[in-house]
Amino acid sequence: MENKNFRSWLDEMELNHPLVIAGPCSAETEEQVLEIAEELKNTDATVFRAGVWKPRTRPGSFEGIGAKALPWLQKVKEKTGLLIAIEIANAHHAKLALEFDVDILWIGARTTVNPFAVQEIAEAIQGTDKIVLVKNPINPDLELWIGAIERLHKMGVKNLGAIHRGFSSFRKSNYRNIPSWQIPIDLMSKYPSLPIINDPSHICGNREGIFEVSQTALDLKMNGLIIETHCDPDKAWSDAKQQIVPSRLVEIMDELKVRKPRFEKEESVSALNALRKEINAKDAQLMETLSERMLIVDNIGKAKKAANVAVLQNSRWREILEKVTKKGDEHGLSIGFIEKIFKAIHQESIAHQENIINK
Ligand code: PEP
Ligand code: MN
Repeated sequence: MENKNFRSWLDEMELNHPLVIAGPCSAETEEQVLEIAEELKNTDATVFRAGVWKPRTRPGSFEGIGAKALPWLQKVKEKTGLLIAIEIANAHHAKLALEFDVDILWIGARTTVNPFAVQEIAEAIQGTDKIVLVKNPINPDLELWIGAIERLHKMGVKNLGAIHRGFSSFRKSNYRNIPSWQIPIDLMSKYPSLPIINDPSHICGNREGIFEVSQTALDLKMNGLIIETHCDPDKAWSDAKQQIVPSRLVEIMDELKVRKPRFEKEESVSALNALRKEINAKDAQLMETLSERMLIVDNIGKAKKAANVAVLQNSRWREILEKVTKKGDEHGLSIGFIEKIFKAIHQESIAHQENIINK
């Protein structure tokens, strides 16, 4: 892999299928590692992943085999031709990874949150040609994610990429880490040439959701998938619930639809352009309506100021929300969507009236 450009390597591969990184959450024994790798050899996977040092929430659980597992991974490379990938969390891990010629190093979600740790790693691998992937931080903070990528870039790390593994949330959800797709979408718009790999395993926290999350990632034009794979997932020493067997990986890859990046036929391009014109006209109408609405909001603000009345009128706000969600529902719009839009409108209206009242 030395001296290879990550982007062009992906582009070549994407003609057939997206990049697939697969392997166990943790390297457990030499036999386990080699058995999984042998099975993966006959799949779409080109890279073998295995955690060697494991960041665990509570002490006392399995914290990884450590450096002893690195020769096992070298064996994987020799025997199967798969490239190898591990997580690094400090300068010591980073140096060992380079020493053992690991092809892809990734920075875990718990490390991305810490600029000191990221800086230390960046300095340890300064100027490397190795592929370095930065997982999103645990909390939904795009700037922190970008900051970590920048630290590596500044230290001359050339083959950079990102991994979207979802975000921790106090809200109850079906995901272990909610995907908040808009955050990786914002990252992709800001850095269109930065490859981004999706990690459905850590997003789902279970086996059942892996296909659907992977399909969404491909529909958003993400460049690859990192999927935890184990020959006996129930007995895995970490993340047992979310690992899948290699044969399931094959099924998933067969079922996934890799769509074309753009329309190709002349007729579909012009049909699409006509529809896009209609959307643009509707967006312009929406802007006009919103600005007219805001003018009325401002007039109400002035009336509140004249009468010395508080900006927030809770019962009126409840009445509006009830009306619009009912109306939205009649028009086939989901309640959650309408609530989100109107909460944003209400917040902006309050800010406007606050301005008026305090002028
Ligand atoms: C992992 O990939 O096994 C891992 C620990 O992931 P994350 O940093 O996303 O929690
Ligand atoms: Mn894991």
